[in-house]
Amino acid sequence: MNGNGEGNLEVLAGAAWDVIVVGAGPAGSMAAHELARLGVTVLLVEKARFPRYKVCGCCLNGRALSVLAAAGLGSLVEEHGGVPLDSFELAAGGRKARMRLPGGAALSREVFDAALADAAVAEGARFISECRATLKEGTHAGWTVALQQGELSVEVSARIVLAADGLGQRLLRAVDAFESQAAESAHIGAGVMVDDGAAAYGAGVIYMAAGAAGYVGLVRVEGMRLNIAAALDPAVVRERGGPGPAAAAIVEESGLDAPDGLAGANWRGTPGMMRRVSRVSAHRFFVLGDAAGYVEPCTGEGMAWALSAAREVVPIVFAALENFDRSTEMAWERRYRELTGRAQWRCRTIAAGLRRPRLVKAATVALGRVPALAYPVIGRLNLGVAIEKEMHL
Ligand SMILES: Cc1cc2nc3c(=O)[nH]c(=O)nc-3n(C[C@H](O)[C@H](O)[C@H](O)COP(=O)(O)OP(=O)(O)OC[C@H]3O[C@@H](n4cnc5c(N)ncnc54)[C@H](O)[C@@H]3O)c2cc1C
Repeated sequence: MNGNGEGNLEVLAGAAWDVIVVGAGPAGSMAAHELARLGVTVLLVEKARFPRYKVCGCCLNGRALSVLAAAGLGSLVEEHGGVPLDSFELAAGGRKARMRLPGGAALSREVFDAALADAAVAEGARFISECRATLKEGTHAGWTVALQQGELSVEVSARIVLAADGLGQRLLRAVDAFESQAAESAHIGAGVMVDDGAAAYGAGVIYMAAGAAGYVGLVRVEGMRLNIAAALDPAVVRERGGPGPAAAAIVEESGLDAPDGLAGANWRGTPGMMRRVSRVSAHRFFVLGDAAGYVEPCTGEGMAWALSAAREVVPIVFAALENFDRSTEMAWERRYRELTGRAQWRCRTIAAGLRRPRLVKAATVALGRVPALAYPVIGRLNLGVAIEKEMHL
């Protein structure tokens, strides 16, 4: 079997790993990369066929880039055609404000996630795609995990399982101790990639259209394709007959030009985004990335949280491989809350503000006059070196 998961699943039957990582998004692939480079045997399992499209704004902020750099992957985004970001344009109710960004880059998730999985393989992780993992049984020594690829199913075992399976959180639902709750007010995510050659959307700018039914982000990624991602009120999506018409209406009402065919494009959706989980660890089991709870994409931090958590879980996995006990479990609970608590609170506050169209329009007018009003928040979202120090990386 090669690194891309081609080959016969049967060769894995009965294999034992130190760590099985479920999900090859930024959280899973970064964790696999970091563990493999320290000599841990790692199986990275991904249910989709790679490379795959993923609903996302595709913007890596300064913090995400600095975590990549700390992992020795500082050139990955540039090498794969990532577009450097220099500004953010907010549009609401026909008003616009443009603010400078101190850093960041836009790269499609198709390309970014595949490159990160390749980097994990280069460090020695085994990667298998088009393969769904399910937890079978927890024992004193670890977990039995079932792998299903098409008609074929095998069982493998691991001393530790990392759940990095994203918003659906299916893996952790199989573990008794977990509860996952979606907020009633949760927006759903939706996205599409279009080949829009129109000059209205320049490279290097994140455009955000805000309206009563949600918000839509548009950004040029590699190859000048236009990535569009939205957080939408599910009731409005139903009323309008799908995410496309709902997102197109928000863009038009905001005063931005709606790309041709936006309403009828082939949109993909996500489950409700605002989710909390009761815990992020259990017996020989740690949760990270969106699977550990997610707020909303309004601050564009999801990948930074996922990448940071993937690096931070490594010493805890090492301790767990040495000797797993209740204190190892609690260590990840504590560290994870420290890592994301304040940022998620900030994100929740901004998300609540975005649900008030008059407030957003007033803020857009104010920011149009004095863009510097946004710089403290933008600065926090793009902290690089300072955050790395804070994280003791
Ligand atoms: C509309 C929208 C816009 C966003 N914009 C941005 C942005 O601009 N910047 C930013 O930083 N973040 C953004 N985010 C957030 C970002 O997409 C997530 O935070 C990020 O993808 C989390 O990474 P992850 O690795 O935890 O999960 P994911 O990227 O979701 O990866 C999980 C992987 O697990 C796989 N999987 C699931 N179950 C199984 C299983 N049983 N077996 C095997 N594989 C499995 C899935 O196929 C998937 O590939 C946005 C999100 C949305 C919805």
